[in-house]
Amino acid sequence: MSATAVETEQNDRSIISIDELQNHGINVSDITKLKSAGIFSIQSVLSTTKKNLVKIKGLSEVKVEKIKESAGKITSIGFIPASIQLQVRANVFAITTGSKNLDTMLGGGIMTMSLTEVFGEFRCGKTQLSHTLCVTTQLSVEQGGCAKKVAYIDTEGTFRPERIKEIAERFDLDPEAALENVMYARALNSEHQMELAEQLSQELASGSYGLVVVDSIMANFRVDYSGRGELSERQQKLNIFLNKLCRISEEYNCAVFLTNQVQSDPGANSLFGPTSKPVGGHVLAHASATRIMLRKGRGDERVAKLQDSPDMPEGECVYVIKARGICDPED
Ligand code: ATP
Ligand code: MG
Repeated sequence: MSATAVETEQNDRSIISIDELQNHGINVSDITKLKSAGIFSIQSVLSTTKKNLVKIKGLSEVKVEKIKESAGKITSIGFIPASIQLQVRANVFAITTGSKNLDTMLGGGIMTMSLTEVFGEFRCGKTQLSHTLCVTTQLSVEQGGCAKKVAYIDTEGTFRPERIKEIAERFDLDPEAALENVMYARALNSEHQMELAEQLSQELASGSYGLVVVDSIMANFRVDYSGRGELSERQQKLNIFLNKLCRISEEYNCAVFLTNQVQSDPGANSLFGPTSKPVGGHVLAHASATRIMLRKGRGDERVAKLQDSPDMPEGECVYVIKARGICDPED
């Protein structure tokens, strides 16, 4: 199969463009103002508070009221029967990690419509897993992907397009096409990272994306907010960023894959488990629906431990990193 599946195999969960507001009495210039603030879908209009919409230059309270009302007519955000929510959840895809062991532990792979976080010490495979997912997202549903594109935010400068080509060959994808389907951005600092999240909405409004990678989520925030006194401001900014990603994952039915660093945990006892913990505090812990701890095992082996999941039991498994990406030890 070729990477052209990305163009042909779109899922039918509908994202309604804000241009639709034109048919409900909102003028083009106000729609343009919404777009300039990173709002491209009716769902985004509805999920942004009036308080924040009023902050957009040129939008008065009266206008915001009208925009909200019109958006509400296009699609409803009230109570719905759980049976309908079940139908929405039926659209969730699991994207294969490249390792059957990992996929089984996760209930199929990395899930769309929520945030997944992997954390662990250096060289345990966080970046390699990110690269493998860049390719597997492009596979057809039967092959463990969702035939969609990937947006990659790199905060550490460790993205290697050559690796995408190598991994694509393993899955019989055209390496050049596989590269074209990964949109890459290097986040220079935490402010830039937040701006990129705004730009993501524009990219993702096309509905052609299945995965957003942020490798790593905390690196910039840790540099830009270093002192204790800056911690609460850092967490507030982080919360806004994560909230945006969370909404994006639900609105556009895509997976959000975050990698995270660890710091030593002075309160931990090595007899009873790990002595390091993920950075980012409670804000990140709450935002990540699925949390996976990675560590080095024997020889080349790496161990993944599922620490938190909305629907899978805790578990542990072994994987390895190869030239062709993340694999099982027996592959
Ligand atoms: P950090 O915290 O430093 O970002 P990380 O968890 O992101 O670390 P990775 O960069 O994903 O770690 O993994 C590094 C490991 O991947 C190294 O052990 C390296 O040998 C292995 N690796 C990288 N490229 C290849 C390759 N082409 N073939 C085989 N193994 C590779
Ligand atoms: Mg890395």
